[in-house]
This record gives sequence, structure tokens and C-alpha cells, in this order.
Amino acid sequence: MAKQQKSVKVIFLGGVGQIGKNMTAIEYGDDIIIIDCGVDFPDEESPGIDAIIPDITYLTENRDKVRGIFLTHGHEDHIGAIQYVIEDLNVPIFGTPMTLAMLDRKLVERHIIVDARTVQEGETAIAGCFKVEFIKVTHSLAGACAFAITTPIGVIYHSGDFKLDATPIDNKPTNLQRIAEIGSKGVMLMLGESTNVERKGHSDSERVAGVGIENIFASHREQRLIIATFASSNYRVQQILNIASKYGRKVILSGRSMKGIVEMGSKVGELTVPNDIIVESPGKLPFAKQIVLATGTQGEPMSALTRMSEGEFGKINIGSDDVVVLSSSPIPGNEKSVYNVINKLFKRGAEVIYESMNDVHVSGHAYAEELKLMLTLVKPKFFMPVHGEYRHQYLHSKMAEKCGVNPLNIAIPEIGAVYGVNQKTMKRQSNVTAGNVYIDGTVLDEGSNIIRDRKSLSENGFLIVIVSVDMKNGILLSPPDLLVRGMSMSPEALESAKGIVENAIATLDFVGEVIDRSRITQAIRKSLKRQFVKDRHFPMIMPIIYEA
Ligand SMILES: [Zn+2]
Ligand SMILES: [Zn+2]
Repeated sequence: MAKQQKSVKVIFLGGVGQIGKNMTAIEYGDDIIIIDCGVDFPDEESPGIDAIIPDITYLTENRDKVRGIFLTHGHEDHIGAIQYVIEDLNVPIFGTPMTLAMLDRKLVERHIIVDARTVQEGETAIAGCFKVEFIKVTHSLAGACAFAITTPIGVIYHSGDFKLDATPIDNKPTNLQRIAEIGSKGVMLMLGESTNVERKGHSDSERVAGVGIENIFASHREQRLIIATFASSNYRVQQILNIASKYGRKVILSGRSMKGIVEMGSKVGELTVPNDIIVESPGKLPFAKQIVLATGTQGEPMSALTRMSEGEFGKINIGSDDVVVLSSSPIPGNEKSVYNVINKLFKRGAEVIYESMNDVHVSGHAYAEELKLMLTLVKPKFFMPVHGEYRHQYLHSKMAEKCGVNPLNIAIPEIGAVYGVNQKTMKRQSNVTAGNVYIDGTVLDEGSNIIRDRKSLSENGFLIVIVSVDMKNGILLSPPDLLVRGMSMSPEALESAKGIVENAIATLDFVGEVIDRSRITQAIRKSLKRQFVKDRHFPMIMPIIYEA
């Protein structure tokens, strides 16, 4: 036992091999702290699912050790799972005022009360044997921090999500002095975000997006402007409000989350709303005097922008007098829905301006040169790339080598992996239970039938087989009816399927037995499946039996 105490365990429950559902546990002796607790967004692989969260089995099994959850910042991929897991864990949550305010918006709706502990940038919070220093970093929203976690045997530096914006909107750049200081005292392990490792050079300052947006105001003075951005990007929203005020336009906030975040941002002092700039509705304002600030940059089906593109958004009817700006970029996986919305907006006659055409967006994540600078300042003994798909992690690990980390001291963690780290070694230990938990009003686990059914329905369509059966004699009373949805079948194939069903029922042998529905159902399924498998087609088959 004593030997084990000499290493800190780092346990990856999410956020590695993927961009989403960030969650890492750090354990020493009888204490565990959790860094971030985020969601992943569902895609075509999980139809009808609201959210995907990390499997926290390991934490619930060790609940009496868990001392707290530390949040690097308020993005969904870092805080979005709290509402689903906090009742199981019931531990304090540490974050900056902005992060906790963003969390609170979500928890209030669900009537969840948590033990939230505010930590200001630059302060240190203690949980069990860990001291966690919150270090200000720049990102696309306020209140973002990196963590220097002092454990009994060494310091772990967690980069959080960051970029190095030397001219941030709030004039509070990343605290590079403090990071250099921590690095010079010796960092045992660094966990570094890898999102933009493929992008060369240095990311643009948030101000660049402001300039791009202002150019659009200057060159489109008569039209109505509709600008979509992430509600959580308070600096972007701030710049748009300032520019609107400069150009004498009123702002209509569209979408519940946009209204909520503007209110919340002003409350915590991270957003300054120019006087009287926001109006409830356009009223009699001419187009030249208004802008609409909307959500829906990812093509989300119910969002303001998507509904506008479909002509289903109350009073805002998009037409040729509109300029729509997407001040955002599609999150990988969302491209199709985003371009769908853009196509529909063009069809309505609007002028659409989006990232690939104009400087209306900048990324919140460090590019290659910024990542290198961070590595040189932190100078870790051991390094693990996080917050990225495998290729991002791989490239980041190669970069760390070039920046002087011994290649033997670098590992690419995957979900469920546990590493034991001390000043001398970093060793892979046996895995813990980890993976995806699907949220759909009720919590579903990975192998759930519902997910499988939905996947099958969306990929393969379904076939409803209606039969009326004389239950006394086990014979069909009329030819079966077949309904096909979500796939196509030629008239010949349909006829042959009917024959298969008739044959299946005719050959059922009920002699001396009660005729039961489940045997008929099974027979229909089995016989049709055999045929479909031959054609390499796998629709869901749903027999409906009328008893006569
Ligand atoms: Zn982020
Ligand atoms: Zn993130």
C-alpha cells in the first residue's frame, strides 16, 4: 500500500480522443478532485439523444474520496454534465464568477441546488490534499482559467482551454508571468489542450473579429443586419453591442439563451450593455436602424437562425433587405446543418457572410506557436495532450518533444486510462470503467436498446407487416399488408416479401398447441430477415397482428 501512495493517479473519464465531455480525475491517497464535467453533443451516431456525458462509475464507487469539481471555464464541453451527475456526487463545485453564473443558469431551470464556491482568478482553492491555483487565461469567454494543482508529490499544470490574446477585449491577457514562475519552480506533469495544434502560427486577437464585423456595418448601412454568434462568447457580444451603438442601431436579442446570457454577463460584470441599446421588438424602426443578435450558429434545429432560414420565426421574415452574418465557425460534425441553414438563407434572398469569406470570427484556441510557447514556459517533466481527437493529441505530443520534453515522458491518454505519476516515473495502470452515457430525459447507457433501435431506424428504415390471423386455426385471413418507411423497395421486392410472410405463417405448426402471437411475430421477422440479409439490407421489421 505504502508504495502506491507515492504516485498521483490521473484518470481520464472524457475529453481525450475527442473534443467534448471533458473530465479528468486526480487522485492521491484518500482524495480525488475532478477537473471539468462536460457534455459531448450528439451526432448522426446517436439519433434523438439530448446529450452524451462521461460514465462516472469510478467516481460513484469512490464517492467518499471525491472532494470537489473544479471548472476551468463555462463552456458546455466543460460544465454541461454537472446537472446530470451532481446529485450522485454531491460535492462542492469551484469556479470563477462567470463560470458559476453560466452553470447556475442551467441548474436553476432544473431546480438543482449545488454547493458552489467562487474562486477569483489568481486565487487558490483547497480540496483534500490538493491546492488548485486558478490562473487567468484568454479564451472566447470570460472567467477562463488554467490550473496549477499542487499535490503532495508535485505540481500538475492543466492548461484549460486557452489562447494567447495579447490584446483581449477586457484588457486582461493570459497571466504568462505567473505561468513562467510556476514552470521555473518545476512542473511534474502538464495536461495541454490540443484543439488547434494543426493550425500554423498564432491565432488572431478577438479584436480582429470586431474589425471584420464593423466593416460589415460600414458597408451595409441600409439593410437589416442579423448577426449570429455563440451566446456564451461574451467578448464577441460586447463588440457587436459597441459597434451597433456606434452606428446608431438598436439591438433585438433573439433566442432565449442570448437574452439569458446578456442578462447574466452584465450581472457578473463581464458585459457592459450600452444604454437603451436593447429593444424588445423592432416596432417601427427602419431596417437601417436595427440589428438582430441571434443564436443558432451550429444549425441547431430549434434555434433562432434555423427557424429564420425556414421562414418560421415570428416577426423576422428574412428577405433581400437582410444581411446575415455568422460570426462563428461550425464545430466539426455540424458542417452539414450549418451549410444547410446558409443555403436556405441565400435562397430567401439574403446576403450571407460567414467565416470562410470574411474575418467575422476568430478561434478561442491556441494555434501551434502559442502551444509551443506554453510548453516552453511550463517546462513539464511529463506531458499528456488532451482536449483533442487522436491526431491532435499525436501532433501535440510530437510538438512537446521538439519543445524539449523527453519522448519517454510523453503519453497519449485515452478514455478510461489511468496513469500513476511521480517525480521519477509516469506509468500506465489498469483502466477504469469509462465511456459514454446517453441522456434522453432518462439516462441510457451505451448498449441500450433504444439507441440501437434509433440507429437502425435512421440508417435502415423500417417495414411494418400487418396480418390478420385466424387464431383458432393459425391461418392468414387475407394477404399481408406491408408499409415501408425510410427506405425503398421495388414493387417486385414487396410482392416477394408478402410471399415470404404468407409462407412463414402457413408453415407454422400449431398442432396441439395454443396459437400465440409471439410465435407468429417471430416467424415473420425471421423469414424476412433472412431475405434482407441476403440483400445486405437491415430494416427494422415490425409485425402487427390482428386476431380473428
Ligand atoms: Zn472552451
Ligand atoms: Zn473545450
